[in-house]
Amino acid sequence: MSLTPEDTANALVLLSGGQDSAVCLAWALARYARVETVGFAYGQRHCVELDCRPKLREALAQAFPAWAPRLGPDHMLDLSVLGAISETALTSDAEIMLGANGLPNTFVPGRNLLFFTLAAALAYRRGIRDLVGGMCQTDYSGYPDCRNETLAALNHAVNLGTQERFTILTPLMWRTKAETWAMTHALGGTALVEIVAEHTHTCYKGDREHRHDWGYGCGACPACGLREKGYREWRQAAAPA
Ligand code: ZN
Repeated sequence: MSLTPEDTANALVLLSGGQDSAVCLAWALARYARVETVGFAYGQRHCVELDCRPKLREALAQAFPAWAPRLGPDHMLDLSVLGAISETALTSDAEIMLGANGLPNTFVPGRNLLFFTLAAALAYRRGIRDLVGGMCQTDYSGYPDCRNETLAALNHAVNLGTQERFTILTPLMWRTKAETWAMTHALGGTALVEIVAEHTHTCYKGDREHRHDWGYGCGACPACGLREKGYREWRQAAAPA
């Protein structure tokens, strides 16, 4: 069996414990010979999302034996400085509501700029040049640091600043939530859909008591709403006529 260039390549996946980064991890495991993961602790309102990360990695390695040997170490970086700076709902007890500028106040300003810059610094030391993140501008137009243009500019800045050729890859950038569920199914069938539902977290309220077919959550917050809507749309589209 001959190796394509990508078979020998490495990737570092930004893994938050949310749905999108989990799908990106599966996407990378299907493509790269070796995949490492990085997570950031920045004083999230609840640690539910971070707690999902090791369970998700374990479940993927168990359910997909071909992926298990490709899954490299996990790295956690302390970014508590973000919590100190930000006064948003994710990092304080402030109510989840829309700010006057139209951005949900769960938004941590410029968060992804820091994430990718730090990921590049880590990847540099690990001999990795492909950085993978679950940013998506289709359903989250309110987050300027998720935009393709922002990340393209950051990619350029990181390459200049390190004199290297990093590539920031965002496989979900132009997908709707329904298309992300469809991609999950295409990558690993029902088994992967179940793993993503069980071992990722989206709910703003950190609800792990109520289990729906799309995963855990309060079912009422905006994050749950998006996740459920995407799941329903995917199921409807996938259902035989
Ligand atoms: Zn919720």
